[in-house]
Amino acid sequence: MPLVHSSPPPEPWRVGDRRSPALARLVGALYRHREDLLRIYPNVVLPTDPGNAPTPLAALLLLWANWDYGMGLCPACRGAAVVTSFSGVLSAGSVGGFCTECGMPVARFIGGIGRVRTGCREATAGTPWAIRITTTPGGWRLAGDPQILIAVLQEVGASGLPDTAAVAAALRRS
Ligand SMILES: [Zn+2]
Repeated sequence: MPLVHSSPPPEPWRVGDRRSPALARLVGALYRHREDLLRIYPNVVLPTDPGNAPTPLAALLLLWANWDYGMGLCPACRGAAVVTSFSGVLSAGSVGGFCTECGMPVARFIGGIGRVRTGCREATAGTPWAIRITTTPGGWRLAGDPQILIAVLQEVGASGLPDTAAVAAALRRS
């Protein structure tokens, strides 16, 4: 699937304001094992904000691979930084995430929830998976109980996983 080239293109990631080492380690592990996870566990339902429609793991992994606003170089270490949340009103919004290497929180502006919706649709087009944002204003974020993600990461042989309770605490605050 080709990379989505949004118009206007994204600004570089800037340093975000919510440091969360445990959540960042989980995101880093998901990123490193994304090919196995996409093949073996695409339909695992992500822990998300209670207001979000159920979202399969594959949809988020496809955003990391295909959506220009959902990826980019970490401003601190130039590693890959990927999206874990977004929100917006009609004409302004923000995309947030973490560096998969150093754990730096990252964020960038996006010109409204409609642009988020378009990016999510195009990044998952032609697949059985989608992230659905049904409201304006709207948003989506990882939240809640991360146990299923820790479990599938263990199944694909991930090492150095963060403590489940620490990730859960981070996801309560996110
Ligand atoms: Zn980094």
